[in-house]
Amino acid sequence: MDPTLAADLARLPALLDAVRDASAEALAGLDARPVVPLRDGPPEPRRLPAHGAGAEAALADFRDRWEPRLSASAGPRYLGFVTGGATPAALAGDWLTAVHDQNSNSGMDGAGQHLERETVAWLRELFGLTPAHTGTFVSGATMSNTVGLALAREWLGERLGVSPAQDGVAALGPVRVLSGAPHSSIAKALSVLGLGRAALVPVPTLPGREAVDPAALDRALADTPGPAVVVANAGTVNTVDFDDLRAVAALKDRHDFWLHTDAAFGAFAALSPDHAHLTEGLDASDSVCVDLHKWLNVPYDSAVQFTRRRDLQARVFANSAAYLGPLGADPDLVHLTPENSHRLRALAAWFTLRAYGREGHREIVERDTACALELGGLLEADPALRLLAPVRLNVVCFTLADDPTPERLAALREAVSAEVFVTPTVLGGTPGLRAAFSNWRTTPADVRRAAEALRAATKEIA
Ligand SMILES: *Cc1c(COP(=O)(O)O)cnc(C)c1O
Repeated sequence: MDPTLAADLARLPALLDAVRDASAEALAGLDARPVVPLRDGPPEPRRLPAHGAGAEAALADFRDRWEPRLSASAGPRYLGFVTGGATPAALAGDWLTAVHDQNSNSGMDGAGQHLERETVAWLRELFGLTPAHTGTFVSGATMSNTVGLALAREWLGERLGVSPAQDGVAALGPVRVLSGAPHSSIAKALSVLGLGRAALVPVPTLPGREAVDPAALDRALADTPGPAVVVANAGTVNTVDFDDLRAVAALKDRHDFWLHTDAAFGAFAALSPDHAHLTEGLDASDSVCVDLHKWLNVPYDSAVQFTRRRDLQARVFANSAAYLGPLGADPDLVHLTPENSHRLRALAAWFTLRAYGREGHREIVERDTACALELGGLLEADPALRLLAPVRLNVVCFTLADDPTPERLAALREAVSAEVFVTPTVLGGTPGLRAAFSNWRTTPADVRRAAEALRAATKEIA
């Protein structure tokens, strides 16, 4: 064994203590450090060492050169995109995922994949899905959407008497994927799957809304020759608008389509009694995407893909090899997702659900939602700013009252970036900014700090 490696092995407990101390310090400093440090670019590149100096030297170098340049995205005022942090239990679970380093995809191995199944059953219950849905962990909502649409593709084949998984996507002919205000990852998934970005057919939304107009969807389906795919959106990123999932599913009585619902973060509305109605009808979907590294507050990379048609999933993702054994009635995870090998990704989610339960996670959802409402109120009261949409759940979409050009908004974003991180958007042709609340640490004090920083910055920018 390399002598440095052998020395690290001999001192492993002390090494883990050093990492523990560094972690505690980084987490304790989250609130004070710049939310996004814009001043320093990346450090000067270093050469690959021929001989290493051991893990503690690597830790010191990381803390010196890299850590100060990382964002405080685990903290309470990183409101860009839709970004969660990691609860204490999720962090513990993630650490132990690396400790046990399981490739939990096969029944020939230990019980890892059963831990994933237990976690999926808990998540199913959390989101009000019935056992008609099975679920698998994937790396994020983009991958969950991709898997859901791969199942849709195979279902279209079933309807037409072909198997795209076997014969290729050309066997399908042209495909139409209908959606009101889909997330950008849907087009990316269609590109990856060979269906093509052009397969996406935009369906009109309700006036002044991002939710699909069910009557327009009805007409678009009537105009579609043959079976179709519908992507329902349960929580759009700009205004967190929800398609009427029950109305969309009811169209199945008259039209033949696969219903995929992108509920990446909107599914968490099911935890809040005031908002649970938004997710009613979710169970009728043929496939459902839910992100976990957002509002469940587990570390990246984690999402779940639910479906009513695991048989199609196995048809698409079966990985036939003599050494893996037969598929069986309850296929091993290696046969259900694009990956073969993958970490025991479910463990962080298992930990946080086991530690805090439905009530603990309901409280996070409700507090974040209350914070979004409060920020919306504060920004509305500021004459320099205006809301672009009502605050429906956990996102505040706003802009400058005067002259909201992308340049002025970028200047505003940069001016506040040490205090609060928000990201740009365009809503109905108007450039704006979004503040998305999904971190478990965020409190009303953070909201006031963010509003104050924005108020001060509107005065600074020309
Ligand atoms: C975040 C998000 C995605 C993509 O999620 P990743 O985890 O970044 O892959 C897809 N759909 C919606 C609605 C989202 O909010």
